[in-house]
Amino acid sequence: MSHTKRQRAPGELELVRQFVNSFDVEDAQDALGDPAGLAAWLREHDLLEAQAEVGEEDRRRAVAVREALRALLLANNGGERDPDAIATLHEAAGRAGVALRFTEDGSGLEPSAGGVDGALGRLLTIVHAAEHDGTWPRLKACPWHTCHWAFYDNTKNRSGVWCTMEVCGNRAKAKAYRERRAAAARR
Ligand SMILES: [Zn+2]
Repeated sequence: MSHTKRQRAPGELELVRQFVNSFDVEDAQDALGDPAGLAAWLREHDLLEAQAEVGEEDRRRAVAVREALRALLLANNGGERDPDAIATLHEAAGRAGVALRFTEDGSGLEPSAGGVDGALGRLLTIVHAAEHDGTWPRLKACPWHTCHWAFYDNTKNRSGVWCTMEVCGNRAKAKAYRERRAAAARR
């Protein structure tokens, strides 16, 4: 899968995009395939303290949050809303103890928990901020069934559907062509 620059989300939302793409559906490559992988990913992205311990239960929750986020990104791309995904994220925010904090720089949401729960809570506060600054609806997942790659839709009218026209856009075109031919043959 191509990782083109124009797919990048602005600011911290890029972190959410990269988290969703820690599983490459097409290649079945999962950076969060074991607890050590999850710990390494979170540390690489400055989301986890050096001394935090990461177990299989943490990993299971992180993957559930990641796939719930992917479901939301598919919904952002014209897909159906998924109540289970919403419930998963709501629970993760609660577990992280996300709370409103006031500092000299102003107010914002922050997780109270540390460790993996805190890291997941941090990602959810970024989602919340993006909903308010208007960038969230542009973060989408590619609807092609073997792809589901997360990308930021930079088109003027927010009409981007495929991760890339070169890959999934062409797959969809070829499929539509085959279907037209089959329909014509039946007539
Ligand atoms: Zn795609």
